[in-house]
Amino acid sequence: MKAAVLYEFDKDMVIEEVRLADPKDREVLLRITAAGVCHSDLSTAHGKGNVQLPTILGHEATAVVERVGPGTSRVKKGDSVVLSWAPACGACFFCRAGFPTSCEVCGAAGAAGGLWDGTSRLSLPSGERISTFACQSSFAEYAVMPETGCVPIPASVSRPVAALVGCAVTTGFGAAVNDAKVRPGDSVAIWGLGGVGLSALMGAKLSGAEIIVAVDVNPKKEAVARRFGATHFVNPKAEGDVPGAIKGLTKGRGADATFDCIGKSVVFEQAFDSVRAGGTIVVVGQAAKGEAFRIPSGRNLMAAQKRIIGSHYGGGVPEQDFLRILGLYGNGKLDLDALIGKTIPLEGINDAFRELDAGIDTRTVITFA
Ligand code: NAD
Ligand code: ZN
Repeated sequence: MKAAVLYEFDKDMVIEEVRLADPKDREVLLRITAAGVCHSDLSTAHGKGNVQLPTILGHEATAVVERVGPGTSRVKKGDSVVLSWAPACGACFFCRAGFPTSCEVCGAAGAAGGLWDGTSRLSLPSGERISTFACQSSFAEYAVMPETGCVPIPASVSRPVAALVGCAVTTGFGAAVNDAKVRPGDSVAIWGLGGVGLSALMGAKLSGAEIIVAVDVNPKKEAVARRFGATHFVNPKAEGDVPGAIKGLTKGRGADATFDCIGKSVVFEQAFDSVRAGGTIVVVGQAAKGEAFRIPSGRNLMAAQKRIIGSHYGGGVPEQDFLRILGLYGNGKLDLDALIGKTIPLEGINDAFRELDAGIDTRTVITFA
């Protein structure tokens, strides 16, 4: 099959033929139909994550089930599915404690660059192993992954939209709805209006937030954010005192919830200082390896009783949230079509990464014939 292979960080991926072995127990062979280009792929390509090379990126996709391995019960040949990048085992401590996105088996698989048994089904024609990224590696025509990561959806759902539900939408929407638990009348501020931040914005709006401040260094994001329901826009490059600006919009108190959808310490500090006493700072952005967040005033953390929450894959059960979100999309309550920018063939992947690096308005999605 054809795939985009990453051999070196900060270098173009190579589109070439690779091998994919048969699905093992409770694994599924999938024909990828759409794959979104997420900032987590880009960060990994820049060497900011934990991944073994060579690898194939891609973790936000839809597919059709081609064949199932032994013991598979959740999906069958021909099903249209959204893929999860955290296919949970359902049996470990964290799965049973209600934190399936921290599944121990899935975490170990990711660290090993393989599937649940640690081995990868991907290899070069020479036989050299290609590590699997996020149990998925969907920048390829086909993938093999555990059945628990495959969520059947009606074949009629837009594939680019459903692909985004596989990561950006569930992550951002859940950060607002499941983690911050935004309530009617709340004020929120969101840093980074990419696919994830715009989805947090939609989740906050649907939950009834009245003041929605979008914060982005790209001035073009103002129009985009307002289209999705932002009531205010702050550009940190133009506004020296971002927390001051946000307090000015929230009766001097600060927002009820702030969202770092970027993962930089400077952003975290602004989000910390911009939340009101007793409010919640939600960290969604993926910080680079080794990057530490500084709490600007430890005393303020204590006295102001601020709550800092890490948000992973939307904080719920992703496989259930996929269907909840697609239901809201079907009822016209979430305009997910507006998130989709360009659709491109796999061959356009390197240009798509360069454009994401430079800053784009909406999500680029790879579609497969
Ligand atoms: P994106 O590249 O589409 O958007 C990022 C936005 O942040 C851009 O609009 C950019 O202009 C803006 N920005 C960058 N630096 C800024 C700064 N200092 N101040 C204000 N704005 C700034 O990214 P995305 O695909 O939406 O992903 C966002 C983040 O979420 C990434 O860090 C990604 O790795 C992370 N992520 C986390 C999870 C999770 O489970 N928590 C899941 C998926 C993605
Ligand atoms: Zn992602």
